Amino acid sequence: MSDHIRLHIPGPVEISPDTYEAMAAPMIGHRSKDFVALYDDIHSRLQEMMGTKQPVFLSTSSAWGVMEGSLRNLVKKKVLCCCSGAFSDKWVDVAARCGKDAEALQYDWGTPVDPADIDAKLATGEFDTVTFIHNETSTGVMNPLAEVAAVVRKYDDVLLVTDTVSSFSVVPIEFDKLGVDVLLTGSQKALALPPGLAIFTVSDRAFERAASVDDRGYYFDFIEFKKNQEKSMTPSTPCIATIYGLRHQVNKIFTEGIENRFARHEKLNNIVHDWINANGFEFFAPEGFRSKSLTCVKNNKGIDVAQLQKIMRDEHSIALDGGYGQIKGTTFRISNMGDETEETIGNLLAGLDSALAKL
Ligand SMILES: *Cc1c(COP(=O)(O)O)cnc(C)c1O
Repeated sequence: MSDHIRLHIPGPVEISPDTYEAMAAPMIGHRSKDFVALYDDIHSRLQEMMGTKQPVFLSTSSAWGVMEGSLRNLVKKKVLCCCSGAFSDKWVDVAARCGKDAEALQYDWGTPVDPADIDAKLATGEFDTVTFIHNETSTGVMNPLAEVAAVVRKYDDVLLVTDTVSSFSVVPIEFDKLGVDVLLTGSQKALALPPGLAIFTVSDRAFERAASVDDRGYYFDFIEFKKNQEKSMTPSTPCIATIYGLRHQVNKIFTEGIENRFARHEKLNNIVHDWINANGFEFFAPEGFRSKSLTCVKNNKGIDVAQLQKIMRDEHSIALDGGYGQIKGTTFRISNMGDETEETIGNLLAGLDSALAKL
């Protein structure tokens, strides 16, 4: 049994001891040559991971900083927010709080976003921006990114902001090829780092739009990020320790091989799926739209999810998620993203077997 509560919730996820060690390197000045070398060391590999030649930015914020920042940089007319779970639903609220004209394209939780609906909305000519969540972590639904991007690209003056917070480094994502305009992720999900760092890239179309927006603020100003990145720096003092951790994780990812990393996530995800089938549980997400980084299990057997969580914590030192928001208790979620292995997922499932037998 682990000497601490091991995180199997879908973020923050468990962090490996070697990552903490890498983060404990001596501090450096953020305007020093050492920082330039650190950023340079990871930049081209982050570009490769995002499938882009555009600059990749490091934002000292959680993902929401860049999610809000994207609205402030890009929305002039009206934003269409694809809503199908906790995170995507919140984005429309955040847009309204930023004073933006925003409309929800609302789906029931668990229903994937339908590109045809986006097409119909954009055909009205009312919108200049779309927000889209690739992997809705609250429901375990992976939405059809390529199809959505293809639809938005039919409209020259509409920008697509894509949250890949829980799918980045789990499945291939080709920013340039897809024609996405902002791609963002966070440190505490599949990258298996502590929270506090967001990573994002921006298309030339989106830089052009941002340059024409007056009130985009300072902290998340895309133009400010771009000017600084040209000197391998960030606008303000970044979370350097977490960036040390990022360098370490990027090194590990390229040692493992990106393709092998995708395959590992798929394999571990399949092991979880087999366990669900073997135990008579069902999936919250429909077939063909299931996340590879976590599984949202439908509590069709009516088990006491809170009690399951308690036994997992008290007897197995494992933190398990008991469902998010409106589906709390009627679902629970099993994360397989980050540094997980067949052994750690095996331990988790053995713990679940033993806990379920006690309910
Ligand atoms: C976790 C998560 C977020 C929120 O990230 P913060 O780091 O809390 O800002 C946003 N979108 C998705 C899909 C997530 O999984």
